Amino acid sequence: MNNHDWLARSRTAVWHPCTQMKQLEGFPPVPITRGAGVWLYDFEGQRYLDAVSSWWVNLFGHCNPRINAALREQLEQIEHVMLAGFTHAPVIELSERLARLTGLGHAFYGSDGASAVEIALKMSFHYWRNSGQPGKTEFVSLQNSYHGETLGALSVTDVALFKDTYAPLLRHSVQVPSPDWRLAEPGESPEQYALRAAESLENHLAKHHAATAALIVEPLVQGAAGMGMYHPAYLRRARAICDRYGVHLIADEIAVGFGRTGTMFACEQAGIRADFICLSKGITGGYLPLSAVLTTDQVYAAFYDDATARGFLHSHSYTGNPLACRAALATLDIFEQDDVLATNQAKAIYWDRIAGPLREHPRIRNLRRTGMIMAFEVDQARAGFARHFYHAALARGLLLRPIGNTVYFMPPYVISEEELEMLVTNTICILQAAPGI
Ligand SMILES: *Cc1c(COP(=O)(O)O)cnc(C)c1O
Repeated sequence: MNNHDWLARSRTAVWHPCTQMKQLEGFPPVPITRGAGVWLYDFEGQRYLDAVSSWWVNLFGHCNPRINAALREQLEQIEHVMLAGFTHAPVIELSERLARLTGLGHAFYGSDGASAVEIALKMSFHYWRNSGQPGKTEFVSLQNSYHGETLGALSVTDVALFKDTYAPLLRHSVQVPSPDWRLAEPGESPEQYALRAAESLENHLAKHHAATAALIVEPLVQGAAGMGMYHPAYLRRARAICDRYGVHLIADEIAVGFGRTGTMFACEQAGIRADFICLSKGITGGYLPLSAVLTTDQVYAAFYDDATARGFLHSHSYTGNPLACRAALATLDIFEQDDVLATNQAKAIYWDRIAGPLREHPRIRNLRRTGMIMAFEVDQARAGFARHFYHAALARGLLLRPIGNTVYFMPPYVISEEELEMLVTNTICILQAAPGI
């Protein structure tokens, strides 16, 4: 069977995500047979450096021997059992470890990021209802926010391309100005701008707190907004404002959790604790779909009652899947055994150093880095820049998926110094060799 047959079959049988399928006529998907470390290998043995961690999920490389071994062991014990009325060691251990790491508890599991967001929104509303404040039904999110694409999560997302078509199906929500420092006035520091954005939040909640259940934010980095980065002062102010007005703070750490911003969780850099934290993506090291929402004892207590309907009657079939939990435990083991956060810090310093030519490139603006995420805007980008750049990158053995005219790197943490150099050098080559891009 040659490549061509597989591609035709994929196009016929598979409806690919986030894709206008007609465009696959000209640009077929890349058929992958195997992965190792940061590399993906196609049917012909061509390799691609997975510089976006396969949509921000992979932490320790593809086919990581330690995660593989943990999964093999788990497979011989139990692959899945329902979590209503049953429990198992991997879900208990994972919940305990996540509680220690986040300072929250009572882990409730879903299958992917969007389901975690749905869970947090429902829990927040239901908490207020159980607490005698059923009028708190509104949610506030940041301008350009992304929280997933099921209807509830899309309601608090602010990306027109994903949202506008479905507007008639969505709940009303309010967007307050984003603290993303690209939106600052000339001469305004990221911190000053973050505090100015927080004033808008305060003005909104001062008027509408009685109707507002929660503010949901992507802490420090707004991924789908094109890696919009902001000063932690915003989170500190947002925490204080939410406390003052009796509004929950939901930290959507689905993309930024598990070390991506340099600390285990991004909220740590602001020294705050949210009322809910949503986790997914890196939680299993990029192996299996799993998400979790952790919350406070106070929220949990409002559901704990003799009345069934005061409980949180939400479920997904694969809630707390043992294999996924086992992959998550193996992932946390690697963090501990390899002192990953410290190693990444050293790696990031090296990365900044070799990124000099990017910083100086005449078409590149706003080169920025938070932890293991680096991004920049490309000037004079032609129409369809993201798609053209993506294909030019593939031709040079890089998997990069720009967002608009923003190119970003979010590689697996196992990337070596040589591979980081290759990433930077080849990216510059793409901009040089194809000035029409
Ligand atoms: C990816 C993402 C989601 C949605 O997660 P899915 O697993 O794709 O449903 C939600 N919030 C943020 C910040 C994300 O990056």
